[in-house]
Parts: sequence; structure tokens; C-alpha cells
Amino acid sequence: MLSLNGAGRRFDNGTVALEDITMTIGAGEFVVLLGPSGCGKSTLLRLLAGLDTPDTGTLAWDHGTKPGPGDIGFVFQDATLLPWATTEQNVHLPLRLAGTSLEAARPLIRETLARLGLAGFEQARPAALSGGMRMRVSIARALVSRPKLLLMDEPFAALDEFTRHRLQDDLHALWREARTTVVFVTHSIYEAAYLASRILIMTPRPGRIAAEITCALPEA
Ligand code: ADP
Ligand code: ADP
Repeated sequence: MLSLNGAGRRFDNGTVALEDITMTIGAGEFVVLLGPSGCGKSTLLRLLAGLDTPDTGTLAWDHGTKPGPGDIGFVFQDATLLPWATTEQNVHLPLRLAGTSLEAARPLIRETLARLGLAGFEQARPAALSGGMRMRVSIARALVSRPKLLLMDEPFAALDEFTRHRLQDDLHALWREARTTVVFVTHSIYEAAYLASRILIMTPRPGRIAAEITCALPEA
């Protein structure tokens, strides 16, 4: 789907966040970037999202896969929902930015909310939801435009263990069903082993890929 070839990123203050990153991401993979904080995981995600560009090397999308609006979904650790908006309005946001009215988008929003266990919470505002539910809304918002690539930056790190395990299970089930390509950042080796179809282990200063593990997933 896309590849980085010898990509590096050096910030103005001299920090080399990434050096010589060569990797490919195939359609349908669940790639986990695993490493300690400061090893460049977030910087790498931003390159993949097109929010930042490498100083050296290249990022290339395969022919015909170059992303347009709505083709990349992003989920951050803090669910970053609009506090005054309802669940439905929050999830509508990417479709609204693409020009689709709430009325037209409603069937798709409802279906996406149902798949994330949020049926019945359409009119709730974030303050009325638990941390796990807010994260579910955030994932629904990232998935509602049916992105080709879902980028997740330590999405479950702030959740309690029970909630985290439930979300890991549900995310894994969603991925197995829809086979959306996922790149997921974590510093938890447990989480990586539980979720990944492939793990890239990163080391800091400078951020590099030190090892790669292909995981054998049980068939559904
Ligand atoms: P991770 O997500 O693995 O914690 P980051 O990608 O956030 O790592 O950061 C990698 C390195 O680059 C760290 O040393 C961090 O301090 C540094 N860094 C990140 N963003 C900037 C920036 N805008 N300017 C300077 N240094 C940065
Ligand atoms: P960390 O704090 O490093 O994220 P935890 O202390 O939560 O890790 O360790 C528990 C880990 O065990 C989870 O992160 C998860 O990856 C893994 N795990 C074990 N059983 C399950 C399960 N049923 N569902 C999801 N994750 C599980």
C-alpha cells in the first residue's frame, strides 16, 4: 500500500527523531510500532499521515492508492472529542467536512456506532461517557469515512486495564472483519503481541527500526 525508503526526520533543534526508516505496509495488515517513548513512533505516524514530510528518503503510495480526504483515520490517546457535541455529531464530523449532511450520513453513523457497541448513546455528550466509551466514539469517528488506513497513537494507554482489554478485543475483531489497514503505536509489548500481524521494534536516538516480527494469527 505504501512504503518508506531510507526516510529520516531531523528537527530544527538538531534532534534526529528518525533515521534510515525503510518499511512497507501492505493492505490489510495490522502493523504495530513498538518502542520506548522518544523513539520516534509519533513522528513516524505523522509521516504516514502526510502531516509531516521526511527530510531524507521518500514516502511512496502504491499506484492508485494515494489517499484522498477521508482515506486516513487518526485516533489519539486522548479521545479529542468536541465536548459540546453529541456522539452522533462527533462521529459525523469527518463526513460533514466532506460535505455530507447529518441526515444523509445518519445510516452510516448508526451502523458504525453499533459496531463499536455505542447503540443508544447517539445523543450523549462526551462528559456523560466513560473513558472507554469516549475512545469508542473516537474510533467510530476515525472509521466512519471507511478509511484505507487507520493510524492509532497509543489509543488505549490512558485507560484502566479492564477497559483496555475490552477495547483491544473489540478492535481486533473489527480489524479481522473489515481488514482495514492499521498502524498502531504502543510501548506495551503485551499489546503489540496481542494485536499485531506484524511488529516493528524501534529504538531511540536516533529512531530506527531495530527488528521486525511477523506474527502468526489464528484463522477466524
Ligand atoms: P515517541 O512517539 O516514540 O515517543 P516522538 O516521535 O514523539 O517519539 O519523538 C521522537 C524524538 O523527537 C524525541 O526525542 C522528541 O523529543 C523529539 N521531537 C519530537 N517532536 C519534536 C519537535 N517538533 N522538535 C524537536 N524535537 C522533537
Ligand atoms: P501495559 O500497562 O504495559 O499496557 P498491562 O499491565 O495492561 O500492560 O498488561 C496486560 C496486557 O495483557 C494487556 O496490555 C494486553 O495486551 C494483554 N492481554 C492479556 N489478555 C488479554 C485479553 N483477553 N484481551 C486483551 N489483552 C489482553
